[in-house]
Amino acid sequence: MAEETRNEDTEQTDLDEDIAMALVNHVINTPDDSGETDPRTKYPSEKFEPQTQDYPGWTEAMNPRPDHGEQSYVGHHRMMGMRTLITGGDSGIGRAVAIAYAREGADVAFTYLPEEEQDAEQTVQLIEDAGSRALALPGDLQDEEFCQEVIAQTVAEFDGLNVLVNNAGFQMATSEGIEDLTSEQFDRTFKTNVYALFWLTKAALPHMKPGAAIINTSSIQGYHPSPSLIDYAATKAAINSMTFSLAESLGPKGIRVNAVAPGPVWTPLQPPTQPAEKIERFGQDTPLGRAGQPAELAATYVLLATEESSYISGSVIGVTGGKHLA
Ligand code: NAD
Ligand code: MG
Repeated sequence: MAEETRNEDTEQTDLDEDIAMALVNHVINTPDDSGETDPRTKYPSEKFEPQTQDYPGWTEAMNPRPDHGEQSYVGHHRMMGMRTLITGGDSGIGRAVAIAYAREGADVAFTYLPEEEQDAEQTVQLIEDAGSRALALPGDLQDEEFCQEVIAQTVAEFDGLNVLVNNAGFQMATSEGIEDLTSEQFDRTFKTNVYALFWLTKAALPHMKPGAAIINTSSIQGYHPSPSLIDYAATKAAINSMTFSLAESLGPKGIRVNAVAPGPVWTPLQPPTQPAEKIERFGQDTPLGRAGQPAELAATYVLLATEESSYISGSVIGVTGGKHLA
């Protein structure tokens, strides 16, 4: 019996590796002789298998496995010695940013929910494989004290903080719009997406010097709200607004504040929080005709963290597959 289980596990691992390699090979299938890469075919654009997961979702259970740049991101020493903190860094966009920051030479602390331990362990490994220090901080960002502890522990471990990436987020689609949106959910979405950003930023500021950067993860939903994501979209509009006001107030201190607004990106956030039929066609309504992969977000977070963007503050940069933000 034990033998059988082991064989099944091995088969599953082989299968997972095949899926991962299929995705990687797709990435390698670029560029053409002219050095150009067709953005429509850089990743698969066919329908996804119908799939769901319990919240919060895990990387290993996704089919296909998202690409976080494990095989493709090449660092160029742009963040040597920087101390960074990424909320929700265990998976999805946060993991892609963690890989990129570590390969650029930064130490990376990140938060995650306790039930995401498996994803967190893989992210730690990826950061350490890049030769950087990793600090994994499990807990619930809806709690102000935890947010304060996260900053205190990062500063204590790394002896400072240069870049804060407010990336963790909660969404849950409601089928009938406001009729089945509960006060409990409304509260959770605002606590996770907006209050945590406020608490973390406030706690981080005393440790940030001129040259430091804050990067918030917004969404195209902040501009084009879906009726099934009323609460979530409102938090993303609030994040845009706070990005603008914080950039105004922190500019005179030499601290830049920006946001990245992703379109549909293939991460563990989606299968547990959207109807299965939406997951099948996820991203196909973009001009590029496919969902984005977390790896395609990383370069923008690197740009906004480094001196190369020294005159960019108060901006929201869209990474949307062609959908406009305005
Ligand atoms: P993800 O599920 O991989 O990451 C979100 C993370 O948020 C989780 O891993 C979890 O650790 C964290 N989180 C959620 N609730 C938390 C809580 N109460 N306490 C602590 N941590 C908590 O998914 P992702 O898509 O990479 O999401 C990252 C950000 O990107 C989110 O802000 C999301 O709103 C935003 N975004 C995603 C998409 C998309 O299509 N995937 C599109 C636009 C914006
Ligand atoms: Mg996760």
